[in-house]
Amino acid sequence: NERTLVIVKPDGVSGNYTTSIRNIILQSGFTIQAQLTLHLAQHTVTTFYAEHSTKAFFPSLVKYMTSGPVLIMVLEKVNAIADWRTLIGPTDARKAKITHPHSIRAMCGEDLQRNCVHGSDSLHSAAREISFFFPEGTTL
Ligand code: ATP
Repeated sequence: NERTLVIVKPDGVSGNYTTSIRNIILQSGFTIQAQLTLHLAQHTVTTFYAEHSTKAFFPSLVKYMTSGPVLIMVLEKVNAIADWRTLIGPTDARKAKITHPHSIRAMCGEDLQRNCVHGSDSLHSAAREISFFFPEGTTL
C-alpha cells in the first residue's frame, strides 16, 4: 500500500466541501490514516511550498493558504498517489470544469490558484509531506 498527503485548502473548508470530499475518499477505497485541522502560519506554508518560493505567484499562494483553516489528511491505498491526483483533476480548476467535470477540483475549485485540494505528486514528496505534518514518532 501507498500513502499520500491531502490538503483541503481554505476555500474547500470554508465552502463546506469537507464532507463531500471525505465521502469521495471513502467511496474510492482509501482509508484515512490521520487527519488534522490547522490554520497554517506563513512560515509553515513557505516551508511546505519551498520549491515555489521564487515564483511570481508565491506571495499570493502564501496569502491564500493562510487565509483560513485547512484539513490535512494522510490517505492509504494501493496506488494512492496517482489515484488521488486523478480524482482531483488538473491544477487549474477552471480547466478542470471543462476537461474533468467529475473531478474534485471541478466541484469545489475556482481557478489556477484557488483549486481547493492538494495531493502529493510522487513517492518522494509524499514521504516528505507526511513527515512534515506528522513528524516521526506521531502514531498514524
Ligand atoms: P498541489 O501541489 O497543491 O497539489 P499542483 O501540484 O497541482 O498542486 P503546483 O504546481 O505544485 O500544483 O502548485 C502548487 C499550488 O500553487 C497549486 O495547487 C496552486 O494553488 C498554486 N499555483 C500553481 N501555479 C499557479 C499560478 N500560475 N498562479 C497562481 N497559483 C498557482
